[in-house]
Order: sequence, then C-alpha cells, then structure tokens
Amino acid sequence: MLRVENLESGYGKIHVLQQVQLEVMEGEIVSILGANGGGKTTLLRTLSGLNPAYKGSITFMDRDITHMPDYKRVEAGLIHVPEGRGVIKELTVIENLELGAFRWRREKEKVARKIKEAFELFPRLYERLHHKGGTLSGGEQQMLAIARGFIAQPKLLMLDEPSLGISPIITKEIFKTIRRLRDQHISILLVEQNVKAALHVSDRSYVLSHGKVLKEGSSSELSADSDIQKMYMGA
Ligand code: ATP
Repeated sequence: MLRVENLESGYGKIHVLQQVQLEVMEGEIVSILGANGGGKTTLLRTLSGLNPAYKGSITFMDRDITHMPDYKRVEAGLIHVPEGRGVIKELTVIENLELGAFRWRREKEKVARKIKEAFELFPRLYERLHHKGGTLSGGEQQMLAIARGFIAQPKLLMLDEPSLGISPIITKEIFKTIRRLRDQHISILLVEQNVKAALHVSDRSYVLSHGKVLKEGSSSELSADSDIQKMYMGA
C-alpha cells in the first residue's frame, strides 16, 4: 500500500534522508528503528507532506503522492500521529477526539460511532471523557493522540515514538492496541527507539542510520541479528 523509492528529504539545505527504499503491505505492522537523529521523524514528516521530498517517489494506494499537499494525504487515509502527541491541552478528551473527525463533523452519527469505537480501544479515555488534555498522564495523552488518529479513519497509521516517556505497563497496553488496530485492517508504520518492543509487535522492520536504510528484514530475523543486538538491545 505504501512504496517509497530513493527518497531524499531534509530541512532546507540540511539533507537528512538519502535514497530511502521502503514498503508497507496491507495489514502489516512495520517499524522504523534506529538511534536518535537517524532520520526517523524526518521520514514520517516527509511521508505525511510536512517536509518536501527532494528526490524519489512516494506511492500510496497506487497513487503518486510525492508532491501531494498534506491534507489530501489525510483524505487518502495516511494519518500521522506526531512525536510529542499533539494533544490540545485546553480541550477535553472528547473535544480532542472530535478534532479527529473534523472532515465529517456534519455526519453526527458517524462521528459518535467512531468515538465509541475509540473508547472501546482505550477504555481509560472514557473514564477521562471531560478532563482537559493537559491534565492527563503522558500515557493517556499518547492514547488520546492515537485514538484521534484512529477516528480520522486511516488506511495507514504512522506513529512516532508512542512509547516515549511512558511507563512500561502503559507501553504494553499501547502496543497491544496497535495489534488490535491492525486486526481492524489498519496498517501501521511505527517509529520507535524501544527496539525490543518494536521488533516484538511488528512483522518487518527497517533500521535507519544517518538518513539511510542500514538493514531491513522480518522482525524475527532482525531480533536474531547480532549487530542489532549489540547496537540497539544492549547485548
Ligand atoms: P529522534 O528520535 O531524536 O527524533 P530521528 O531518528 O527521528 O531522531 P530526526 O528527528 O528525523 O531523527 O533528525 C534527523 C536529522 O535531522 C538530525 O541530524 C537532526 O538534527 C536534523 N533535524 C531535525 N529537525 C530539524 C529541523 N527542524 N531543522 C534542521 N535540522 C533538523
């Protein structure tokens, strides 16, 4: 469903991504691993149209989206949950979720149904329904950000560091939900520094280092790779 070929991108004159090749098939959970500054966030930002592609191409659901504006990519079903969560602190949980349904806000029944489904995925959020985003714990804010992405009806949901700054127990809960999203036919592209957890949840992974794909393979292959164990898993 997503094919990235020879992608180059960055920030003005700062060239970050170099000749990135990557694929996500329907129904897959794919993770992008690597140390800080490897270019993982830049990759997601380029896929969602926040950073321009300097070279190469991005094909999503058989359409060339390389230079498509960001809001059109959202309409096509490519949804990005950014690092740092993007929860609006002054709005309540339910108001934050309604933002995810902005595109069909006039279809009240559909909005209500999607919000109900989001609460089924994250029952904790239902308990916090009228609480302001800023009063939630880090883990709850992450759940809210993912739930808002879910409500936007993704075909491919891109999650940037969902475990960042979150306790191991909540991280486990979030990763379980990522599997449940896949069961609902949502493919996942996951950026993670928690390499062990990411390999465990995903089908395939890519390791990004200095803006290049250093390794790729099935997550079981990469889990057994001694370089990966040494570099990222403290072996
Ligand atoms: P992290 O987990 O720390 O976000 P990452 O793998 O996601 O790491 P990126 O955030 O994509 O890496 O950063 C890749 C490179 O791009 C780094 O060298 C970084 O300094 C640079 N960079 C990131 N954001 C900007 C920016 N707004 N302007 C200029 N350079 C940037």
